[in-house]
Amino acid sequence: MKRECSVVFVTAITIAACAPRSPEQRIVADAASALGGRDRILAVKTITLEGEGTNGNLGQDMTMEASGELFTVTGYRRVIDIANIRSRIEQTRTPNFAYFQGPQPQKQILGVADGVAYNVATNGAATRASNAVAKDRTAEIDHHPLTIVRAALDPDTKLANAHTAGNERVVDLETKAGMKFTLAIDAASGLPTRVVSMTDNTNLGDVAIETAFADYQDTGGVKLPSRFTTKTDKYTTATLKVTKQAIDGDAGDLAVPDAAKNAQAITGPAPAVVTTTEAAKGVWLLAGQSHHSVLVEFADHLILIEAPQNDTRTLAVIAKAGELRPGKPLTQVVNTHHHFDHSGGIRAAISQGLTVITHKDNVAYLKEAAARAHTIVADALAQHPRPATVLGVDGQMEIADSTMTVDLYHIEGNPHGAAMLMVYIPRERILVEADAFSPGSAVQPYAANLVENITRRKLRVDRILPLHGTPATYADLVKAVPQS
Ligand SMILES: [Zn+2]
Repeated sequence: MKRECSVVFVTAITIAACAPRSPEQRIVADAASALGGRDRILAVKTITLEGEGTNGNLGQDMTMEASGELFTVTGYRRVIDIANIRSRIEQTRTPNFAYFQGPQPQKQILGVADGVAYNVATNGAATRASNAVAKDRTAEIDHHPLTIVRAALDPDTKLANAHTAGNERVVDLETKAGMKFTLAIDAASGLPTRVVSMTDNTNLGDVAIETAFADYQDTGGVKLPSRFTTKTDKYTTATLKVTKQAIDGDAGDLAVPDAAKNAQAITGPAPAVVTTTEAAKGVWLLAGQSHHSVLVEFADHLILIEAPQNDTRTLAVIAKAGELRPGKPLTQVVNTHHHFDHSGGIRAAISQGLTVITHKDNVAYLKEAAARAHTIVADALAQHPRPATVLGVDGQMEIADSTMTVDLYHIEGNPHGAAMLMVYIPRERILVEADAFSPGSAVQPYAANLVENITRRKLRVDRILPLHGTPATYADLVKAVPQS
């Protein structure tokens, strides 16, 4: 039933017969008519909107459930070229928290065109983003009432599953390109209330991205929302209050910058490079890229400190442990904190049979992460399911045998995270920590608190093996504390 009406020739008599609409088509038709009518919607070429709002700090806040860390977004301007499937966002974001890059406002340019995603740095240099980002940004174009209803009106789009839920009427769409969305409209007004699509998140697996629309206003012969609220899974990740918007205004140049267009496509995580440095007898720093781990040898087993980033990184680190001490089982992984870049390999570690040790306040989240569905991208744990064992540290924990002792301590009161652990190896006077002190970083907003914790615990630290940057001395840490 691709067309609503068809002209039927019956011998000499011509009759116009309107086929009854399906429930799905009725939802789409009501949405189109509420927005300003099918013809007006189909005539729109571009949408420009300006405003201000917030970005959340998903996976990087004080705890997994915390939502207080926000970037204030100003100077937001977005252009959507509907026909050519291009979009570009410019915004300035300012952290309201102790951000690791410092408190200054950051300008961002985030675009997608012709299936290629790109970012433009403040110095004007464009870089290509991954294919996964391109897919997400292409889907994001349809997270707007006009674009989603246009997609739904396309005769090549398949509609299904019309139903009513509370005050909403809901329909599923699958476009000719295979992109799937759920559109909800207000049962009374017919105006779109939400668009939902699914994507893969390394840490959370299959996640719904939902954009909710509110406060419609008349613009250029159509109704457009002036409030957008975006959730990733159950977490609010963006809000926008539109202050100015236009239909078919000046779109500017939305093409992919040459540097990004000519760059090689990024189809997945970079191959892992794992370097090994024996920091002390039975203690290895496994570095090589941005996120490090530390391997510690006991009499009859090994433990790993940190399973960062993703399957690729963590499985390579685990393989390196096997090369360094073949035959000695790697049994446990210590997670320093829940932040996505430091826990992105926990599922891979679980798939290898490792027990996870973390601060007690991260246990519920890591257990949930281990149990979540990863069907869009089947990761190592989805392919090799195993039960997860996650142990919580309350304040401190000692792991010791006849040859090695390591002490895990909560880093109390650190503005980087509420449930962070540091690891102390007393025999070597080595401290392993992530993010509290990153040697070489231009700003060190968390270092003073780390010194306080070391002092309060009376730890005699000579060397620091940081999980970012290069090994440092305790004096380097003290020097890094900002003087106020
Ligand atoms: Zn962190």
